[in-house]
Amino acid sequence: MSLSETEIVAEYRRRTPRSAELAAEAAQVFPSGITHDGRHLQPYGIYVDHAEGSRKWDVDGNEYVDYAGGHGALLLGHNHPAVTEAVAKQLERGTHFGSNQELEIRWGQAVQRLVPSAERVRFTSSGTEATLLALRLARAYTGRPKVVRFLGHFHGWHDHMAFGVYSRFDGTPSPGVVPGIASEVLLAPPSDIDATRKLLEEHGDEIAAVILEPTGASWGQVPLPPNFLQQLREITTQRGIVLIFDEVISGFRVSPGGAQAHYGITPEMTTLAKILAGGLPGGAVAGRADIMDGLSFATGPVQREKISHHGTFNANPLSAAAGIAALTVVAETDACEQANQYAAQLREGLREVIQQENVPWLVYGTFSGFHIMLGLPRPDATHQDVELGKFTPQEIKAQRNPNLANQLRLAALCEGVDFFGWPGGPTSSVHTADDLDRTISGFRNAIRRMKKSGLIDAETTSTAAR
Ligand code: PMP
Repeated sequence: MSLSETEIVAEYRRRTPRSAELAAEAAQVFPSGITHDGRHLQPYGIYVDHAEGSRKWDVDGNEYVDYAGGHGALLLGHNHPAVTEAVAKQLERGTHFGSNQELEIRWGQAVQRLVPSAERVRFTSSGTEATLLALRLARAYTGRPKVVRFLGHFHGWHDHMAFGVYSRFDGTPSPGVVPGIASEVLLAPPSDIDATRKLLEEHGDEIAAVILEPTGASWGQVPLPPNFLQQLREITTQRGIVLIFDEVISGFRVSPGGAQAHYGITPEMTTLAKILAGGLPGGAVAGRADIMDGLSFATGPVQREKISHHGTFNANPLSAAAGIAALTVVAETDACEQANQYAAQLREGLREVIQQENVPWLVYGTFSGFHIMLGLPRPDATHQDVELGKFTPQEIKAQRNPNLANQLRLAALCEGVDFFGWPGGPTSSVHTADDLDRTISGFRNAIRRMKKSGLIDAETTSTAAR
């Protein structure tokens, strides 16, 4: 994508000279100058100096309302005092003992208390590692080779998960992925329970696990139809298939017990990360004791080979301290509800703007997420249609417009708002009424800047946003 040098880009460059210098240095260190694909922005992203609560400040002194939210990890915002204090205290005591420690038990117990499926827990260092381990455990338990994923659902970047998210919806492996692994992964359409049922019937005896994001593909970009989870629960139970909820995003966010507690549907296994570790690195697999026992050194009544699992930073003391503090706040306060309510108000406010400004976009989302779709999957599509799972991931992801999204994000940054992703973002429990006002007026001004730069038609009428 080559970026057009609009007035927005010029203004962005004027506001961020130090970020530009750092980006030039970074280009000599990292491919594309970045350390995570999600941080790709042209001509360069902001370099952040520090953050507090719902705000962050870049190296040029600009202040932003933050919707990157630590990629979803910061339900409680930046530097929540309970988390900061716990980490600082632990820092004095040591960062890695290479031994057992009491904190890991308290952290695991917090997971057990909150997450209905968590009979046993194993910590990892990331969500990617958690989904990898969950699949291996499910295969070992069932003795079956295949796993089913849903189109557009994101589960990290390892070989099983690298295709069929943004592209390669036909299931062919993306470059560097082992073809033999890709051929053991079946992709199902998430908006179609009948097609999913058929797939599970055709391959039932070979399928170890079905994994999905229980709030829909790519942190809720493509919400699931009502009853989908319930129906999937029934089919997988009938066929002895391990159901895995990937709650890396939704865990401790949708509700203290995640999506499974909210919907009252319990999977055999759950993968967790992000909020789990309070803003530090960490992940976990939690699940039924007999499946998790694949990791056990005691072989038990059923003779089977132990599954090996290592990881230098599993349950490291700093992450454990941060995680315990964060999960305590989640359990004892209405943090999830606060973030959900703020997101609902924000979606409403942003929708009013696109209506008033008459741009053919959709703002939608569930729980504490919001998405700004820079197009319409159908001219008469409403946000409710999208939220009810009436569109396929391909239909929704076809609305991606990288150039427009990039310009909108830059225009919003010029207005002091850092949107994430395509764009959109997670909200936190510490976003305020002032953040709401700033974001809504910043969004309006960003649209006006885009109109002025000729990026969107100033006279757009026919497909008025809804
Ligand atoms: N699963 C889901 C649903 C995710 O959103 C992510 C990360 N965004 C992952 C897994 C991978 O987690 P990590 O980045 O910690 O590897």
